[in-house]
Amino acid sequence: MKPDWGIRGANKRPHRQAPSSMAGSPKSLPQRLGNPVIGIIGSGDFSRSLAIRLVASGFSVVVGSRNPKRIPKGLFPDGVELRSQREAVDSAERVIFAAIYPEHYSTLVGLRDGLAGKVLVDVSNATRLDDGELSNAEQLAELFPQSRVVKGFNVISAWALQTGAHDGSRQVLICSDCSDSKATVVQLTRRLGFSPVDLGGLVASRDIEKAPLHLFPSWEGATLVTFLLFLFFYGYNVVKHVLLPYLAHGEHNFYQLPLETVNQTLPAVALILLGLVYLPGLVAAVLQLARGTKYKRFPSWLDRWMCRRKELGLMSFLCAGVHAVYSMCLTLRRAAGYRLLNAAYRQVKAGVENSWEEQQVWRSDLYLSCGILGLGVLTLLALTSLPSVGNALNWREFTFMQSGLGYAALTLSIMHTLFFGWDFAFFPEAYRYYLPPVYLLALILPCVVLVGRVLLALPCLALRLAKIRRGWESSRHRPSHSQGNNIMSAF
Ligand code: NAP
Repeated sequence: MKPDWGIRGANKRPHRQAPSSMAGSPKSLPQRLGNPVIGIIGSGDFSRSLAIRLVASGFSVVVGSRNPKRIPKGLFPDGVELRSQREAVDSAERVIFAAIYPEHYSTLVGLRDGLAGKVLVDVSNATRLDDGELSNAEQLAELFPQSRVVKGFNVISAWALQTGAHDGSRQVLICSDCSDSKATVVQLTRRLGFSPVDLGGLVASRDIEKAPLHLFPSWEGATLVTFLLFLFFYGYNVVKHVLLPYLAHGEHNFYQLPLETVNQTLPAVALILLGLVYLPGLVAAVLQLARGTKYKRFPSWLDRWMCRRKELGLMSFLCAGVHAVYSMCLTLRRAAGYRLLNAAYRQVKAGVENSWEEQQVWRSDLYLSCGILGLGVLTLLALTSLPSVGNALNWREFTFMQSGLGYAALTLSIMHTLFFGWDFAFFPEAYRYYLPPVYLLALILPCVVLVGRVLLALPCLALRLAKIRRGWESSRHRPSHSQGNNIMSAF
């Protein structure tokens, strides 16, 4: 059976058709127009959106309803035929969408003969993650053994179908046990302007149906890490700068909670997240050096961590960006105004005419400049991690951006923090209540990563690592006595 059963010819503009109320035999209208006829069972939201998209793409559509007369006029576009379920099944040339809920599939068994040999597309979603063993599509295939069941379109919302692929997700996950039928639906998907993704046999429908139930699955780890880091550093800042000063000296610093404390927390989180982006690469390099081969699998936690670097990086960018906005607003606050006035008053009282401190001027300019440059480089990294931008780069350009510029962003962020801290860490006031300043805590991991990267760049390690990554294995080059021992022990 050929998969291109006429879908390719469907790129003509849709013909203006008579209103749906027009009389005629079920088959006459679509055949007369010469466009491939697609059937849809059900006249709900999904059916209507799909019909609009199909008609716009040059197909003839027959919608099969339990009661077509009840469908209000104008609900479906002109040219869509509203018929009984049986008539729709008979009219459809090859493809029929089951746009009804799976609990109603059994009501269609009377249509078995008409559906025999046709491609039956199941668009339903799972309602729970722990739904039964068989997917809806597999159950549909059991109910209609003579039809070719294909799973697809369930990840596309009715809204995205109506507006076209420009204003929603483009990917349509497809699977089926019949490769011809799957090819037909793949072709149809492309004609509708979406990107089909072939996930294999019908068994994959178990995952496909559950896909819409997951909320950003690849972001779970990065979001959790960001949240926990934020919680830790926010709590640490509250204890150190608000709670303990209040308990020990009755200082009222609670006004700092909404803005100042958040702004002290964000850079620490951003810096550690950036360190976490580059740490797994170092761990992987150390493992390869220690094992003397690149052919042994990394532990699964390292694999998972490596796969989540993009999300961690984007979270770091988010925190750094929000920190920049917060910092720009610091001087707009009433608290800052009062502090400035009070400091000016004290200065006047003390008879100080010029409070210019050259060292502090350098410090602030340096940390601001490093921070702005670091954020700029992070923005470039974030942009290149977008598929549309990243796809335009070859792998060397991508590696340069993500690794070379990534380490530049890390270095600039560390310098920003060091200039901010200046010599503060050497004074006892920095360790009030025996708690070290937050910026020192935040620097530990990124500095370890940076030092690790510098060590790996030493020629003795870098050359060995480069050899290993080109396929060299230390075990193949070991002195023969160790091989001899292995051979002896094997006997
Ligand atoms: P809906 O608006 O409630 O429409 C369901 C249709 O099923 C009804 O209009 C009805 O049409 C038909 N039907 C057939 N037998 C039925 C029966 N025994 N009892 C009740 N209704 C029966 O639902 P929908 O939103 O279009 O969803 C339909 C399917 O598409 C579902 O499996 C859903 O998971 C899937 N889906 C929907 C979306 C979306 O955005 N809406 C997205 C992805 C997937 P008649 O009265 O004309 O027979």
